[in-house]
Order: sequence, then C-alpha cells, then structure tokens
Amino acid sequence: MPASVLSRKSGSPASAAKPKKIGKMVYFFGGGKAEGDESMKNLLGGKGANLAEMAGHGALRLPVPPGFTITTEVCTYYWQNRRSYPKGLRDLVDNNLRRVEKLTGKVFGDAKNPLLVSVRSGARKSMPGMMETILNVGLTEKTIPGMVEQTKNERFVYDAYRRLIMMYSDVVMEKAAGIEPAEGMGIRKQLEGIMDEVKERMGYKSDTDLTAQDLKVICSRFKDKVLETFGKPFPDEPLAQLWGSIGAVFASWMGKRAISYRRIEGIPEEWGTAVNVQSMVFGNMGEDSATGVGFTRNPGTGDNHFYGEYLVNAQGEDVVAGIRTPAPINEDSRSEQSKHLQSLQQIMPETYEQLFDIRNRLEKHYRDMLDIEFTIERGTLYMLQCRVGKRNGPSAVRIALDMLQEKLIKKEEAVARVTPAQLDELLHPIVDPKAEAATKPIAKGLPAGPGGAKGMIVFTAQDAVNWAKQGKKVILVREETNPEDVEGMRAAQAILTARGGMTSHAALVARGWGKCCVVGCGALEIDVHQKTVSGAGEILREGDWLTLNGSKGLVYKGELPMRDADEGNKELSEFLKVCNAVRKLGVRANADTPEDAARARRFGAEGIGLFRIEHMFYGKGSEAPLFKLRKMIVSKTLEERRRALDELFPHMKADIKATLKAMHDLPVTIRTIDPPLHEFVPHEAEKLKELAQSLNIGLDELEKRAANLRESNPMMGHRGVRLGITYPEVTEMQARAIFESAAELQKEGIKSLPEIMIPVVCNEAELKHQFELVAKVHREVTRAMRVKAIPHLVGTMIEIPRACLVACKLAEVAQFFSFGTNDLTQMGFGFSRDDTGAFMGDYIEKKILAADPFQTIDQQGIGQLIEMGVQRGRKARKDLKIGICGEHGGEPASVEFCHRTGFTYVSCSPFRVPIAILAAAQAATKGKKK
Ligand code: ADP
Ligand code: MG
Ligand code: MG
Repeated sequence: MPASVLSRKSGSPASAAKPKKIGKMVYFFGGGKAEGDESMKNLLGGKGANLAEMAGHGALRLPVPPGFTITTEVCTYYWQNRRSYPKGLRDLVDNNLRRVEKLTGKVFGDAKNPLLVSVRSGARKSMPGMMETILNVGLTEKTIPGMVEQTKNERFVYDAYRRLIMMYSDVVMEKAAGIEPAEGMGIRKQLEGIMDEVKERMGYKSDTDLTAQDLKVICSRFKDKVLETFGKPFPDEPLAQLWGSIGAVFASWMGKRAISYRRIEGIPEEWGTAVNVQSMVFGNMGEDSATGVGFTRNPGTGDNHFYGEYLVNAQGEDVVAGIRTPAPINEDSRSEQSKHLQSLQQIMPETYEQLFDIRNRLEKHYRDMLDIEFTIERGTLYMLQCRVGKRNGPSAVRIALDMLQEKLIKKEEAVARVTPAQLDELLHPIVDPKAEAATKPIAKGLPAGPGGAKGMIVFTAQDAVNWAKQGKKVILVREETNPEDVEGMRAAQAILTARGGMTSHAALVARGWGKCCVVGCGALEIDVHQKTVSGAGEILREGDWLTLNGSKGLVYKGELPMRDADEGNKELSEFLKVCNAVRKLGVRANADTPEDAARARRFGAEGIGLFRIEHMFYGKGSEAPLFKLRKMIVSKTLEERRRALDELFPHMKADIKATLKAMHDLPVTIRTIDPPLHEFVPHEAEKLKELAQSLNIGLDELEKRAANLRESNPMMGHRGVRLGITYPEVTEMQARAIFESAAELQKEGIKSLPEIMIPVVCNEAELKHQFELVAKVHREVTRAMRVKAIPHLVGTMIEIPRACLVACKLAEVAQFFSFGTNDLTQMGFGFSRDDTGAFMGDYIEKKILAADPFQTIDQQGIGQLIEMGVQRGRKARKDLKIGICGEHGGEPASVEFCHRTGFTYVSCSPFRVPIAILAAAQAATKGKKK
C-alpha cells in the first residue's frame, strides 16, 4: 500500500542497520502473574504477549503453564551479531528457569523430578506453521527414570522421548542447520519409516498400539539414525537441548519458508521472533488427558457457537497434523467425518464446562473471536495459546454484526473488523447452484475457504507457480500442505487436500487469504509420483479440470459454470448500513446503461458518478446506433452532421431517459461524448461500403475522410470538449436528449437529477462556451415542453494537469468537479495508459514505484495535483461538489485519500461499490482516532 510507504518517510520503524540498545530480555509469566501483557506484541511476539495476558491479567488469570519469553530484540541482536546472544542472557534464562521450577515443584535436568519445557516461537503477527516448536525438552536418559517414577507410565515417557528426538533432529539438527535433504529423505521421514517398520512387524494399526518396550527400541534406533545421518549424536543433555532449541527458533526466522511467507504477507524482516520457554503439560498421559484447538466462534460461518476439535491421549501437533480424525468438542462442532465420535462435552463434561467458561471470559476480555489451544492433563485443563482468530469474509461480517448487537463492540469497531478483501469474498463467484445440483461430487471434504473455483490439477507447489505464470488456472492438489507450499497455494485458484481438519495448515492459510479451499477429502487417493488423484471410481490426471465448492467442501470433476456473487445477501446489506452510519464520503457508481445503473443502485450506490455517452454504442444492441454515430463522425458538412445527429438522437435519449428513471431521486453525472474517433471508424470493407452508401458518397471519399480522422496521438487528440467546440451541434443534441428526458420524467412524476459533465477541459473559456450552449438548450426545452426549470448541474471533469492549476477559474463556471484520475495519472506521469505493460512490471519489481499509479492513486505526486484542484476549486466556490470517477474510486487506499482530501463522493464500478462504502467508513473512523 502506498500509504504505508509514504508514512515510512515520516519515520516510525527503526532502521535495521543501527543496533538499538537492548532492553529487558526475558519476561516471566505464571502463578497468576506476568511481567508482560497483550499490548507488548512487538517485543514478546503474539504468542508471548497473549500467554502473559492470559496468565497475568486480573480479569483472566487462566491456568497457563508457567514459563518465560525471550524478546524479539534478542532475535534482532542474534542476527546482527553473527548469531550470538547478548551478554547476560544465559543468566537470565537460568534465573527464569528457577522461577518456573519453584512454581511447578520440578527441577530442569533433575534425575528424580525433572521439569520438561516446550520451546515455542512467536512473531508479532501469527505465521501459521512457519516457525517450529519443540516439545519435551529436558528429557534424557538421565531424567527418564524420574519421569517414569513420577508418572508411573513408562510408555508415555518413551513416547515423549521419541517425539523429542524426532522434533529436535528435524528442527534443530536439520532445518536450522540449513541441511536440505532430497525429497522424502529428511530425517523426520526416515524416523517415521523406522516407526512404521516396527508397527508393521508387530501388526499394529495405530501409534497408540506401540508398547513401552517397542518405544524403547524405537528411541534407540532413532538415535543411531541421527548419529548416522548428521555425524553427531542427539544431545542427551537438558541444557544443550534447551539452547539448541532456542537457537533453532531464531535461526528459523531467516529460513527459506519464513522468508517466503514474509514476502507474501509483507512482514518486515526486522521484526524478528520471540522465543517462549514454557513448562510442559501432557495431553498424552492416558484416557483422562487430551489436547485440542478451538475458536470462540465458528470461523467458517461466524455462528456464535464455540467450535473446536480435540484428541484424547495426544500431544501438541497431533490434532492439526491429521494423523487421527479429531473429535468435536461439542455438538456444534460436529462434521460429516466426526459424527460418530464422542465429544469432549460428553466424555469430560466438567472440564468442558470449565473450557466453555474460559471461552466466554476470553471473548468478553478481548472483544473478538479468538483461536485457542488447550491441553488436559489427567483431568486438569491448561490454556496454551490464544490469538485473534482468522476468519473468512462471510464470517467476518457476521461476527462484526453479532458483536455489535451483543454490545461487545461499537459501530466504528464493527466497521474496522472487516477488511475490504474480506468483504470482497462475499462478492465472490460461486459455482452455479443449478449446475451443482445436477452434478454428483466425486468427493466431499471440509469447507475451508469460501466461494467456488475451477482449475487444472497440479500436484506440486512448484507446478502451481509455473503453470500460473503461463496464465493457466490451476488447483493445487496435495495430500496435505505444509509451509513449503505457500507460494504454490498463492498461485493456485484453489487448494484441495486429502488430509487435515479445519485447523490444518491448508485451511488456516486459505482462510487468511479468503481463497477457495477444501481439506480433509479422505475419499481421494492422491499419487504424487504417478500424478493422479482418484475417488468415486474416477482417475484424474495432471491438467484435468476440477471445480471446487469451498463453502460446502464439494469436489466436482470437470468445469462447472460459475455465478457472480449473491447480490441480495442480507448480512452484506446490514453490514453496509453500519458502514453508512459511520462514513462521511458519498459513494456512487460508474454505469453506462440502464441495467448497470439499476445494479449499482441495488449495491447501494447513491447516484451515478459517470455515465459515458459513447459507451452506449459498445455493448449488445448497439449495432444501429453505432452505425449512426459513425455516420456523424465521418460527416463533413454541418448539414450531413445534423442529419446524422437527428438519427442518433432517439437512441441516445432512450438510454438517458431509462437511466435517469432507474436512478430517480439520485444524481446522475452524464459526461458529454468523448470518443476516441479512430476507434469508431470501421475497418471492414463491408461496413465501409454500407456507411458510404448511407452518406451518399463514394468509397474513396469515405476513405479520405477516415484518413483525416487518424491522429498520431489520439489520447490527446480531437476529443471531449474539443469536439463540442468545433461542432457545437454535438453538445446541443446531447443537452437536448438530457433535458427532454428529464422533462418527460417530470411530467410522469419522476424526479431526475442530471449533472452534465464536460470532459478534457483545460481552460475556463472552453467551459463558458459549452455552458452557454447547454443553457440555451435548457431554455428551448422548458419553453417547448412547457415545464418549469429542470433541476440540473453543469460541471467539468478534471483530468488534465493544467485544469488543477486553474481550478480556481474553472470553479467560477463549473458547479461541480469530478476528477478523472486515469487521464490525470497518464498526463501527470507522462505514462501512456495503454502502453504501461511494457515497463510497469519492472518498475514495481525494481521498486522504482511502490505501486502501479493506475491502480492506486499516487498520493505523493498526482495527489498534490488533486489537492491543489480541490483547494483552488473550493476557494472560488465554497460548496463545490467534488467527486472522482477514475478506476481509483473503488480502491481502498485511494478512497481514504479522497476522504482526507475533502471529496464529496467517490464513484466506481457497481461491483466495487460495497468495497468503497467500507473503505469510506474505515477512513472516517481512522480520521476520528487522530
Ligand atoms: P504454532 O505456533 O505452530 O501453533 P505452538 O508453539 O503453539 O506452535 O506449539 C505447537 C503445539 O505444541 C501446539 O499444539 C501447542 O499446544 C503444543 N504445546 C506447546 N507448548 C506446550 C506445552 N508447554 N505443553 C503442552 N503442549 C504444548
Ligand atoms: Mg499454536
Ligand atoms: Mg478522460
């Protein structure tokens, strides 16, 4: 966004180059207290700040296992000082470990009563799955007997140990060390292979069948494999494990996957990540233990229902990894796949009640929908994480409206809770319901990302990127996704996975982006090597088409027709009402036909900001009028032209009248004809002949006239007001069509508010000349039709830089301005609108420009012209109406600019109207905060 680029100049984020003095490096939490809080995300990361808030805030004091957070400043120091730690950090970590030991009654590295910890990363903004977490740190051959003694559960202890060896070797010894093994040869895969081998030999189905003895053997084989692979042993020493893990978290900040995710999300490198060291609690101590994840409300629909999944006798990642199908925490969370499973509410009603109470307190405290992680150790509930939950567009709108009604938030906050991109999702295409009803899906999964999409099947993220570059629409089909896939997920139209639940990686990422996604499609068999996906007796190959319904989780073979978003969405219109109550800026639509005008009105437009007369000669049914327009254009004599205009008149009047009628009681800005002449001269011989005949001239004469119309720079040629100056009768005819339409409507009892706009103006004499013509026609029409004055305004489009400079003079004549920012950008930059393709990509890539100025207003440069135009215009005429009708009118940053600059309204394409309404409301609330 250019706005943020601009604001950077005025200087907030510290430059990465200058080493800052480091402050307090470690923050403790636990025992009902915390040194940090939720507001300290920059320093403690999201996870650390929220752990502190949950543990220490007076209104919460939730059961959070004690621990401490090493700040993001330490991460920055680490990278600026050749991967070393600031002085004193080791002592601080030791001291804080002692505090954790005191609270838990356990001792890190103790043979009798050992404390185990998790080492968790956490950046300012959540980066799902990007950074690695290591559990059970502190478990060694020396501490194992103590753990067994304490838990009386040898199997559990060895299970925890094999997990530690797996995670540690994968995250610390391989990834953080920058080792990139061949596909399928990573240490984790190899260790999994050992485990599978044992399971197979013993005839076990599930991991839970493994006995303590089996696990002992596995751990010992794991260690051999680690030594063989890396040439060094798995560190069987608690402090070595702890510091290895801390270093790996910092190292992962500069890992390939993290860098790639940051680039997509625009997260600056200098933020760094924090490290959380936290005492372990165990969800895998037996049938009275469990681990789970949840959302305080349903993130897929926005329903005000506690929603979550859990697994009995499981640890950490098990729920999200898709190893076993997670069970629902309550009835509201049941899905097709989990309908036969017992809910947490059923098997541990008291603990569920406690969790539900925490859910309520958290929502009240944070006043937003949260994403939570919890673990139950032998019946005792612990909270391990909370953060504001990602949600899709429809649920964002729903949650904002509900929380407003529940009086949890105010209107301004409700408006701020939905991003323009999320609102856009509601306006997204869906699979045509009729076609869907007639087609049998080949598979059903979980609805993880909204809307519909179709594309060709690809099986790797790399293929998705490559095919998309060739302009192909693809659907990325994976067993499950992981952070290495993000670029491919980005490039794909949609994502389909065979495994994983609503909280799997694919679901989280897709929901964040509002991308169509179906996960957990267990019925599909994916063979990445053969590049096939099969289900319901069908075998599909790479390049075959698929259609997904991400809102229902359905997968169809082939290409189904799509339908535009639902215009009549009730929640959308309710939400827009809230926006309307907050915003100051008006929102109109650009519409060129009566149909477009009607649609714009349905979308909430408060008028038409741009009705381009010449566009009625494009679309369907324009054959006849177009022919007459061409005739007018190639006319040579006044008489010829008058005749052509007379023929054209009824067509033009009919369209104008229908549009004014559709927009009754609302203003309609009608721009006088501004045709690029050369585009209107026919090229086909057949058409030329017809035209010559109808003008009663020879073909050679017609060709001569057409050649005369050719311009070497048509964008700056004989167009707009210039046509009206050379051919006053053209302006007159248009004014007549407008006034007669309005007069007839007046007689029918319909109020119309035409605003006649003269384009391509650069000097006030042009305007005066045209206004006199309009005034003359107005007098003639009112007299002839015996009506009183027809309410109307006459104004001008501001699209030439000179017009901004002389806005003062122009406003003495014009009753309104409308900024034509497309041309203003073209002429302000000297970039030909139609030819930027050759260089704009490079300009953005090489950071010559922060953004394409044709997409978002260049506030620094062109913005000055606009500001000048507004100020000078209003100096001459205090109540000057000011609008914008370029493509920028529906782009959120530009809308905010217009709000700040004092515009009366913005105008954009009908489909963007809701976005503009939201952007205008958000601009108004931002203004208030300042
Ligand atoms: P992520 O940022 O990827 O969510 P987390 O740090 O939240 O990673 O940890 C991954 C998993 O490990 C989560 O399921 C979390 O609940 C679990 N976990 C983390 N710390 C502990 C702990 N101290 N005790 C038990 N489980 C933990
Ligand atoms: Mg987590
Ligand atoms: Mg123009």
